[in-house]
Amino acid sequence: MKVLVSVKRVIDPYVKVRVKSDGSGVETANVKMAMNPFCEIAMEQAVRMKEAGVVSEIVAVSVGTTQSQETLRTAMAMGADRGILVEADADVQPLAVAKVMKAIVEKESPRLVIMGKQAIDDDSNQSGQMLAALLGWAQVAFASKIEINGDNADCTREIDGGLEKIAAKLPAVVTADLRLNEPRYVTLPNIMKAKKKPLETIKPDALGVDVAPRLTTLKVEEPAKRGAGVKVADVAELVAKLKNEAKVL
Ligand code: AMP
Repeated sequence: MKVLVSVKRVIDPYVKVRVKSDGSGVETANVKMAMNPFCEIAMEQAVRMKEAGVVSEIVAVSVGTTQSQETLRTAMAMGADRGILVEADADVQPLAVAKVMKAIVEKESPRLVIMGKQAIDDDSNQSGQMLAALLGWAQVAFASKIEINGDNADCTREIDGGLEKIAAKLPAVVTADLRLNEPRYVTLPNIMKAKKKPLETIKPDALGVDVAPRLTTLKVEEPAKRGAGVKVADVAELVAKLKNEAKVL
């Protein structure tokens, strides 16, 4: 079974994000970048399925600038067999990503697509759902467990109040939640091996996809600064403050 995994290059989750002084977006120049954490989880899942003999080939796909090649190399160091870079502006939006992924699915014919549940830069949580809708495939969003049994992807999702089990008919699109697995660290030998793996570059035009943005960002602002907290000596003081200062009691 062939699996397609999407991997997005985003600002490293451990970097403090700064808003540009003109409010047009966040600063990305000279900022450390990394693979989106949920894409790492998606990739780890595909690699584990290959190690278990369920998956025969893993193709990693990224939509972005030339620098996204680094993200694809990381995916290949984790265990992807090859990579496809669809060259586009850095701020390609979820609908464009879904259209690109649809074109790649039509070209590659995988039985399963695993994506992150959301990208931590735009926090959209849309691309996987849009792709499933465009393809007319089954979808499972926020999977915390995936098992392939015959023609089904048997998945568990964490929902309010418990766990939901879904049997999705393949082919399907599944998006990875935090507790699906803990991604492995890439080792130096695997980084070296990944350099020799095939990496194809395609322009969206060649796929017949228009990736022009449909949404305009009006302004990006820092959240309002919060005042410092105070320590109270006991419950009586807390209640007095809530009554007299905060006036919430
Ligand atoms: P989003 O809908 O933007 O929150 O992203 C959800 C998931 O879609 C991500 O975790 C990725 O797996 C995939 N995705 C979004 N944007 C891209 C991109 N530019 N390149 C590759 N995959 C992407």
